[in-house]
Formats: sequence, structure tokens, C-alpha cells
Amino acid sequence: MIFTRVVMIAGILLVCWCSTAEARPTIRITPVDTARFVKDQRFDIRVEFTPAPGHSLTAVTLAIDGVAQPISISALDANLGNSIRGYSTSAVGPHTITASAVDSLDSTAAFGTCRFEIVDVAGEKRKYRNVIICLGDGMGTGHRTAARIVRHGYTAGKANGRLAMDEFPVYGMVMTSSLNAIVTDSSPGMSCYTTGNKSANGQQGVYPDNTSSAFDNPRVEYLGEFARRRLGKVVGIVTTADVEDATPGAMAAHTSNRGAGTGICDQFLDESELSNGRGNGIAVLLGGGRRWFLPASAPGSARSADTDYQLDSAVADQLGVPTGALDPERDLLANFRSRGFVHAGSATELEVAAANPDTRRLIGLFALANMNVAYDKIAGRRASARPAETSDTLPRDQPMLDEMTRAAITVLDRNRRGFMLLVEGASIDKQSHLMDADRAIWDTIEFDDAVRACREFADRDGNTLVIVVSDHECSGFSAIGALKRTTAEMRALPSDATNFAPASAANPSPARQTAVGLYTEAGFPNYVIAPDGYPETADPDYKLVIGFGANGDRFETWIDDSASRAEPSGSSVDECDTARHVGLSESRGDGATNGYFIRGQIPGTQAAHTATDVPVCAFGGKAAALFGGVQDNTDVYFKLMRALLGGY
Ligand SMILES: [Zn+2]
Repeated sequence: MIFTRVVMIAGILLVCWCSTAEARPTIRITPVDTARFVKDQRFDIRVEFTPAPGHSLTAVTLAIDGVAQPISISALDANLGNSIRGYSTSAVGPHTITASAVDSLDSTAAFGTCRFEIVDVAGEKRKYRNVIICLGDGMGTGHRTAARIVRHGYTAGKANGRLAMDEFPVYGMVMTSSLNAIVTDSSPGMSCYTTGNKSANGQQGVYPDNTSSAFDNPRVEYLGEFARRRLGKVVGIVTTADVEDATPGAMAAHTSNRGAGTGICDQFLDESELSNGRGNGIAVLLGGGRRWFLPASAPGSARSADTDYQLDSAVADQLGVPTGALDPERDLLANFRSRGFVHAGSATELEVAAANPDTRRLIGLFALANMNVAYDKIAGRRASARPAETSDTLPRDQPMLDEMTRAAITVLDRNRRGFMLLVEGASIDKQSHLMDADRAIWDTIEFDDAVRACREFADRDGNTLVIVVSDHECSGFSAIGALKRTTAEMRALPSDATNFAPASAANPSPARQTAVGLYTEAGFPNYVIAPDGYPETADPDYKLVIGFGANGDRFETWIDDSASRAEPSGSSVDECDTARHVGLSESRGDGATNGYFIRGQIPGTQAAHTATDVPVCAFGGKAAALFGGVQDNTDVYFKLMRALLGGY
């Protein structure tokens, strides 16, 4: 069988007579077709050639906008790839990367194309000094609605008050899909906002490649890196998660493995300041995750060579970054200190450190892994006997997110040229995975307090853009009604945990299920708010009921579990493996013995992320108007850049 193929190599039109259609080499070019970059944004170009099975390559070409690049078979790396690092151009408009390969039979050829676009976002408008991204991880409209109902209550159908994020003047929606799936995880969810490019699930600030190293992937320059290099700004990361977690990681660390905690935290420091004004610019890093900053032999450390990075020296040279090292015994916290970072290990120390006018770099690590959630921090603050300050598994003297946010802003604002700040409410997502409605709502309230702190700063400063957004929705979280019974009545209901059959005349609905009041029967749940801003109890009579669209198996009581959700020491972390916080969700409270069994439609006992669009709202002058309407997650990056560069 004979096919005719038309192949363009270095601008010359060739005709190949091909004997077997199957034996063609394949070519992958990154960035991917349809990628967009800001003028002068740096990104890596990589072309990977794969010969047909049993064949080898005899010729390769690569051209950018028709200009042949100097590559050859002998110059390809061990994975038959060629990387151009740190490419950038000021030529606005469409561009094309083309590549071709011929294999050993000299009878077949392949041809690859990537069209990308350079966007000019600069203009004559005011250039914002500061940008703050408030990111409620996993937060959808359901979380916001529930937090408003719980915190403010309703009278005659009207909310008695608004969340801080409700008061933002501009509101839009974001489509959250990643490079390779409609449902994203936090790595692409965040890095789409910080690079303007789609990443694959589990990867942040990079495109996929075919090498085994998780730290040599083709990079796309982060918002913070651009802002540091071109505008002299500094970067702050504030999270209630372990600081190695995907969302904080996608503010500064480039990796194809979101779980590589040792390497991610090392990279935070190793690449904070590079040559020629480059670097991730981190000046403030607040959250959990002390386990990555302690030598492996220290109690509680999670550092290991398996999760570390060491770049090939040629790759490091190309990238213009240190090679890193497999150094589990590194005392990373000491290294941060020696680079001028002041360390705070508690809420009290944080307040002192931020108040000192000499503090310009700040690191605060308040837990070994994820910080305790708001519900448990508040319970700790309300308890007359505070837990031991030295314990890593109890709600010790951990700051609330708004306290961390105020401290971060105070320190970052000392940089004359401004800052980029991420404020993440991380456990809205983690507790939604667990279908723990009370803790997810408490964390949304905590996040909203941090949003208010940002809004107050932006009001005073007058030169700051604040957006509130989420990386994706988690759990299909919905306010579906309210209990028709008191908490005491709910607790007294007999177990119906073994009733698995659909309701029918012969098998009436379990008693607990019939306690969920819908429509008129829901009325208006009424929570009493304590002076600390949180409900006096998570279990008022006739409380709000949350349903989960992406649910896993669970026993549901709708009664809160007051046992502290302690963070185990030194465990490895996966955002979506939150069972480590609490044990399986099916065993929370007395559910396993006195609950109503709900069979989820996804495997396991945790809820999942969804593809549902998430809200974005914006505050701070005219650039805020950019965020109205429905937008792709990568669009958010270009809008933030427009604010920074005056092109709105
Ligand atoms: Zn998640």
C-alpha cells in the first residue's frame, strides 16, 4: 500500500513515498497549540521525537516562525528531545513552531506544528502596585451561600449581612478545566492563573515532557517571576495548607509532581533570587509544612531523596537555576534564616515579627503538615485550657488566616515597588472532600475574614487589585435545606445505617433522611454568632443541611463531629487524601453506629472535585471590571497582567 505525504522541512516542499503508514515517527511540541503568552513572558519550547518502533531517527528539524533552529540528531538529549529554555519575544501576534523528523528507513516522515500567540497587555492606564489573589480552594457558589446563611442569617427572605466577598463590585465565572481533563486538581487550577497556560493534572508551572525528572519540564514563567524580573515586586504566599501543597506550590515552584514536597520547598528558596533580576521573588511564606524544613533525622521531618530534586548540570545551566541536591539532611529553615527570613512558629511570634519594621522577609510554619482547620483553631481558642504549645497534633497557637494575611501584607508592603500575594483558604477543599459540611463552612468563614483584610488594605492603599476566586469546585457542595428536628431529636433517632434499599411503600425512607426539610419545611436556619465571628455551636436546632453532588460513601448524621481533627506528624500528603486528617469520613462522629448510609457514586469514602464553573470577584479600581462575565482560567492571568502593566 502506498501513501503520499506532503512534508515541509525547513521551508522546502518535499514529497515522500511511504511504504507503511504505521511506521512514522511522532512529534510532541510544547507549548501546546493555542497557547498564549504575554509579551516578553519567558517560556521553554521543547520538541520530543519518537521514532517508529524498531527504527531510529535520521533527520530532525525545528523552526520558529520559519527560522530554522540549530538542532541535529546528535544534539538531542537522551529522551530524543530538544529544549529551548527561557524563550521570549516582544513580537505581538501569532507565531508558529514547526518540527519534522525522518526515521531510519528514510521512507516516512512526521511533521508537527504549534501555533501560539503573544499578547500585548501593556497600556497607558495606571499600573497597579499590588495584586492579591484570594483563593478559596474547592470553593464554589454553594460554599459561599452556606457561609453567608450560617454567619449572617436571613430575615423575611433577605440576608441579614453579606460576606466580604459578596461586597465586591465585579462578579464573573471561571471555567476550570486543565490541559488533560475537564476536572482539574489544584496544580493546574492555580497555575492557569499564574502562568496563563494550561498544565496537566498534578503539574504546575510546566508542560508535560518525556523525562523521568519532575523538575526539568518545560517551564512557563509565573506571574510572580515576571513581576519580580520586570517590575521589582516581591511575592507572598499565605495558606492554611502545608506550603508544599499544590496551590501555594503553583505560585512559585515548577514541577510535574505536585507531591515532591522536599524539592518544592527547596526550590522556594533556591530560586528566590537568580541572576539578572530573575527569581520567584518569595519574601513571605506562611502556612503549615514545617516537616519539609527540618533535617530528615529530626523528629517530624518528611524530607527524603525521593521527593527532592537534583537537576542535570546542563539543564540547570540552560534554566539559569541552581542544580539542587538530594539532601534530606538539609536544614532548610536554617537556610531561610541565613537568607534574611525571620521565622515565626506561632500566632504570637507572627504578630511580633510583622510589627518589627525591620522584617522584610518572613517565614511562618505553624504545623508540621496542614494547619488545623478553623473549627478546631476556634475550639482551641475558646477552650479555657489552651493545648500544649509544643504539640504538633493539637490546635496549638496557630494564627487564623486573616491574621496571617495582615502580617503578610504588613511585611510585603515594605517593598517600595509592590507585591504579588496569594492568600489561600486551603481546607475549604480538604473538608469538602471529607463531606464535613461544618468544617468546610467554618473554613469559608475564615477565608472570608482574610478577604476582608485584603479589601481593607486595598481601600487604604488605593493601588491594589484584589480578586477572590477558586481553583475548582469540590464535592458538588449545595445548601439543600434544613433539619426539621432539633439536634437532640436527631441524636435520639435509631440507627438506620443498614437500610440500603430505595424507599418504597414496603421500605419507607430511613428516619434520618425524613428529617431533612426541603422548600418551606427548611425555613431559615438560625445560628448564633459568637464574638469571634463563628457560630456558638455547629449544631443549632434545625441546622442547615448540605448535600454533595460528587459524593463518596458515608454514614450521615448531619450532626457535627466535635473531636479535634489533628494532623498526624510527618505523614506524606496528597491534597485529595484527606482521610489522614480524621480517619475515614464514614466513621466520623457516631455515624457508623447511628447514621444513615449514603452510597456515593464515586469510589471510596471521599467526595471529588467537579467541573462546575467557579465564581470570581474583583475589587480595586477600573481593572476590576475585566473580571466580569464567563472566562477561561487562563484568561485570569492575562487580566491580572493587564492590571500590572496598565493595559485595561
Ligand atoms: Zn481537592
